[in-house]
Amino acid sequence: MDASLVDPRDSGPLAGPAARSRPTSIVLRMSKPEAPTATTATTGTTATTGTTRIIPARTAVGFDARRGQVLRIVDVEGGQVCDLVAFRLDDLTEWISNGRSFDSGSKILFTAGDVLYSNKSAPMLRIVRDDVGHHDFLLTACSPEMFRVQYGVTGHHPNCLQNLTAALADKGVCEHLMPTPFNVFQNSTVESDGRIVTKPPLSKVGDAVELLVEMDVSIGLSACSASLCNGGHTKAIGYELR
Ligand SMILES: [Zn+2]
Repeated sequence: MDASLVDPRDSGPLAGPAARSRPTSIVLRMSKPEAPTATTATTGTTATTGTTRIIPARTAVGFDARRGQVLRIVDVEGGQVCDLVAFRLDDLTEWISNGRSFDSGSKILFTAGDVLYSNKSAPMLRIVRDDVGHHDFLLTACSPEMFRVQYGVTGHHPNCLQNLTAALADKGVCEHLMPTPFNVFQNSTVESDGRIVTKPPLSKVGDAVELLVEMDVSIGLSACSASLCNGGHTKAIGYELR
């Protein structure tokens, strides 16, 4: 099936065993000390500054970030989307807002130099490096409903909505509070007839996006579980906070 012709945030059939699709170098990286992240991926954790951590495929992490820190998101395997959400650290009623960012920037595509705003029109994150130049801020986190309605999945399927919610649960975040994520590396375009088409990400192994934190926030990052918007199979994502 041509991923460009379907809603890309669908799952499609799951890829085969993850290890089979990963380059050896990545398997080795994931066996290093970053691996414990996997056990905290859906329960929330605090990132260690200055250390690259791995978010295993189809999981998420949550952590706090302070104004002035830089969050680096790395596509460690190539062609993988990372959903990013942010909430003001001391006020859950303020969250990252695609609509306010569209308003303030007069654009729907964001890259180096652009600011991602909160629903109260305050700068939350400023993109300071972008190796790819194309990300999505239109589509919601993949969810159980999406997998059920669009792909007929009847059982449980990992999804960004529940993974992000679990990762930020200790902050008080619940599913109905989840904003539309900034979908790092997601290659979605709006066609002239209004259709949204998503193709495999343009990101290659090692490509990164860096965001300057403009206010104290709780951040959720998810290695997206929907295989078709990730080039056919889901993979890990790396991140650093420094
Ligand atoms: Zn997803």
